[in-house]
Parts: sequence; structure tokens; C-alpha cells
Amino acid sequence: MTKFVYQCSNCGKRYQRDEVRYLCPLCARDYRPGIPLIGVLSAQFDYGAIRRKFRKDKPDWNLFSAVEEKFFPPIPVGNTPFFQTAALGKELGFDNVWIKNDGLNPSASLKDRASFLVVAEANRLKEKTIVAASTGNAASALAAVCAAARKRALIFVPENAPKAKLVQMILYGATVVPVKGTYDDAFRLSLEYTSKRGGLNRNTAYHPLTIEGKKTVGLEIWHQNNWRVPDAILVPTGDGVIISGVHKAFCDLKAAGLISRLPRLVCVQAEKSNAIHHYVESGIYENAANPNTVADSISVSIPSNAHMAHKAVRESGGFSITVSDEEILDGQRTLAAKTGIFAEPASSATVAALKKLRGSKRLGRKEQIVLLITGHGLKDVEAAMRGINLPRSVEPTLAGVESVLGSAPAPGAANDVLVVGFGRRGASEIRSSLHVRVRREGAPNSSRGGCAPQSKTKGAR
Ligand SMILES: [Zn+2]
Repeated sequence: MTKFVYQCSNCGKRYQRDEVRYLCPLCARDYRPGIPLIGVLSAQFDYGAIRRKFRKDKPDWNLFSAVEEKFFPPIPVGNTPFFQTAALGKELGFDNVWIKNDGLNPSASLKDRASFLVVAEANRLKEKTIVAASTGNAASALAAVCAAARKRALIFVPENAPKAKLVQMILYGATVVPVKGTYDDAFRLSLEYTSKRGGLNRNTAYHPLTIEGKKTVGLEIWHQNNWRVPDAILVPTGDGVIISGVHKAFCDLKAAGLISRLPRLVCVQAEKSNAIHHYVESGIYENAANPNTVADSISVSIPSNAHMAHKAVRESGGFSITVSDEEILDGQRTLAAKTGIFAEPASSATVAALKKLRGSKRLGRKEQIVLLITGHGLKDVEAAMRGINLPRSVEPTLAGVESVLGSAPAPGAANDVLVVGFGRRGASEIRSSLHVRVRREGAPNSSRGGCAPQSKTKGAR
């Protein structure tokens, strides 16, 4: 850890580490539920010290951490894959498209990074309970990290929160309290609970270390990209904390003299959940009136970190774009089909945005573009089902299969994976159908190419 102070993003006043816990006390006086947070704090490090100590041949990432390593919870978070995807790039009309797949974190979302650092802070402060208001990924992330760290996660959810969203957090052992009211009611209640009953509040942006935790994804991108700054990063944006965290990573690196420019940040929002987009475009903040979108993770009326997100986009020289639900579901299918990554709709919005930007002058065809995948698609299967048709069941005979597929194999079909619905029958029929199909097609080399699905199926037995 490197020495740091908190600085108010609104008035600029600085505070010692333990002088404040959440918002700037001066600016928070103007905060009331129903508007974005005012006075969100930002950790400002001793950048000269980082510059002197940081070595690329032996990088010590704890230099960028606002909590000492000895307090870290025992759960591996981060170090997710970063790779170029030629097939997706070609499909979208760009030559140099990369993916940072943060859906592969323990609870399957980038939000584990924020929970990791807040729980580390709870260890330092000897707080046993961490409190949050959430309906989805943030709560699951908190519940997962708390489970590993033997902390109590207390989560307030609006009573109409989708049940599927609750399953993960309850399995991790969180205490879930449904509140008769909206998300805003749950948020307000969580603040009241921690101020009167104690515990550490993890509400996104309200606790400044949520931004510090999320910045680690930006540090990783720089490292995994061979210490180079990408030209642009597309970030799915709801509350505006992830985009602020990515921006903070590159600001820290620049302040430490390790990079000379920032990546342009592209704020990607859903058409109906576009408060930050509107703010970036017009300079005027307004709540999103009816943030109804299939991309649940970025569906928000009052983005808690709108002011910092607005600044992040502007300072980085980036821009903002919105996409429709249809475009998001199309992006989800394209991403899955071209890369093998099943991302939740919010993350898929980045693919939809890049598709929309094809031919525009806002991103160059040859520029290095990173799509930030923030959550796994299995978290919201129902949303994905809106974009596909499930195949109908057939009789468990070859004739039944051919009633759907036809009797003649399609050209090149030996390389395709065959998926057929078999009603309530088990996987063995699917395996045997693959076996039959590969045999029928007489693939010339049984150990490669067309037989890959069969051999994989065998291996799985
Ligand atoms: Zn302030």
C-alpha cells in the first residue's frame, strides 16, 4: 500500500484516511435521496513514491492499493483474461478488438473487485457486518466475498426484486431483507441502518473504495496489454462507478508518470437508462424517467456516481452512446457466436455499441478497442432467452432428428456442434446423436476437425 488521502470530487477538500468514511462531510449536506451522490471521495496516492518503487519486471500492484495486503480476504479476484478477438473484430468492422472478460470472477461479475477491497477495509476496521442495498451483481459479489472472509453480508432489496437475483446471495449465506418499497427506499434504509446500528456500508460510490476496487481492472488491462494504453475502452454504464474506476486506474498511472496519455472511455448505456449519456451529451443532469431495459445491471434511474462518470468521459476525450434492447440482445448473440463468451446483456451492450459505431468517425478502424465484459450471461438466462428460439423436441430416433435437420448434412456441418432438444430425455441421447452424425458424415480425420465435438463428448463421460 502507498500512503494516500481522500479528496472530495466536488469541493476538492482533502481528508486523512480515517478522518472520513463515506462522502465528503461538507458536500454531503447537500445530498438527499433522489439525486446522484454529492461529494464522492477519491483516493489520492503519493504518486512520487509509486513512481520510485514500481518496476515493470516485478510489478507490485499493492502500491496502487488503498488497503494493506494483510487485510485482503482469502478469495482470488481479478486476473481475468484479456485477449484479441479477430473474428468479432471482423464481424463488427474493426481490425483490433480486444476483450477483458471480467465475467470470470468468483461471483461472475466485475463487482467482486469492489467487494474485495471493501471487505479488506472491514477487516482493517474490525467491522463484522457489511451492508448494501442492491438487487443484483453488487449484492452477489458482496455475499461471495463475505462468505470467504467470514463476514456478515446484510443486503436490503426492494420487495419486487427478481427472485433469481436473490438465489446467489442467499446461497452464499447473506442476510437478505426485502423492503416494502423501491430500490431508492432500500438504499436510504441501508444508509440509516449503518449510521444508527453500525457495520460498514458498501453502497456503490458511497464507499470510496468501491471505485478503488474497480480500478484494478484498468491496471490489469495496461499490464496485460504489454504496458500499453489502448486507444478506447467501451464500458457498460449504469451507476457510473465502473467507468469511474477504469478512469481512475489510468489517472493513477499517469500521475505516477508510468503512462503519458489516457484511453478514451466510451460510456455505453441502454436507451431507456440513459441519465449519464444525456449528461455527457448536454452537460445537464436529469434522472432517467423510466429505466426499463433488458440490461438489468445497467438499469438505473438515478446513477449514484453520475458526476464522476461524466468527468471520466470528458477528461478521457471519450464519448457516450446508447443502444436499444434489440441491439443489446443481438450483441449478446454475436459475442457468443464469435468468441464463445456468454455475457450478460449489460456487457453485451458494448458489442452492440461497437456495431453501431462501424463507419462512424468516432472510433478508427485500426485503433485498439477494448470491450469490457462485466458479468456472465448465466446470471440472467431469462433475458438471453428473449433473443433466441429454443428448438422443439423430437422423437429419439434418427428419423426424428432428420425431421428437424433434413437428411442431407449441410456443407461444412461436420465442424458444427449439434444441439437438439430432447425433451425430458437425458444427455446420453444427445451424445449418441453426435456420435451418429459424425459417423454418418465420415470425417476424414477422426482426431481433428469435424470429430472434435464427438471426442469432447466422450471425454466428458
Ligand atoms: Zn466536498
